[in-house]
This record gives sequence, C-alpha cells and structure tokens, in this order.
Amino acid sequence: MSARTCPECGGLVASTINTCPHCGHFMAGEGQSQQSAISVENPHTSIAWCIISVLLFWPMGLIAFIYYFKSDNCWQAGDQAGAERNGRASLRFAKYSVWFLIITILLGISIPFCIFSFL
Ligand SMILES: [Zn+2]
Repeated sequence: MSARTCPECGGLVASTINTCPHCGHFMAGEGQSQQSAISVENPHTSIAWCIISVLLFWPMGLIAFIYYFKSDNCWQAGDQAGAERNGRASLRFAKYSVWFLIITILLGISIPFCIFSFL
C-alpha cells in the first residue's frame, strides 16, 4: 500500500482514502484526478459523419469538415452557441452528401430505364 503526502498539513495519507486523517483535507484519488484531466469533447460535432460525407461526396464533405473545425474552435474558446451552430451546419452538409448519393443512384437507375423503355 502506497502513501501520499497531504498538501495541506504534510502528513502521510494512505492512497486508498481520499480524506486526510490528520486535518480532514480532501484529496482526489489517483483514478479520479486522471478522469478530470480528460478534456470534454464537443458534443455538437461528429467526425464520423464528416468522414462518411467525404467518402460519399467530397465537396459536401469538405464543407462539413470546415464547419466541424469552426465548431471545434468555438468549443475550445468556450463559445457554446457558436459551437452548436457550426456543429449543426457540419451535420447538415454531411447529410446533404448522403442525399446527393441517394439521388444520384436513383437517377442513375431511372434515367437509363426510361430511355430503354422508349426504345
Ligand atoms: Zn492533512
């Protein structure tokens, strides 16, 4: 069992407890302090959607990526409203590329079908 030193009184505190038995100072556990160090991710964006959109129709995917980075910059700067607005735009363009692909496939099937039916 390892021990840590209390930053408040300098007394030895067992690593299994979070409160100093000498002065009552609260010390976060090692696992807890690691968890709080992980930065909170921007919930308004989705990198997966951006990648899918680039693969489906890259011009739309590029726009989705631009909004993704704009949203991330806003999020890093603490601008929640800006992050949400740009994040929504990013997802919108990503979904446009999905629709573009569906329409292209439908036209690709229906146009030759129409031409051949007239012959
Ligand atoms: Zn203490």
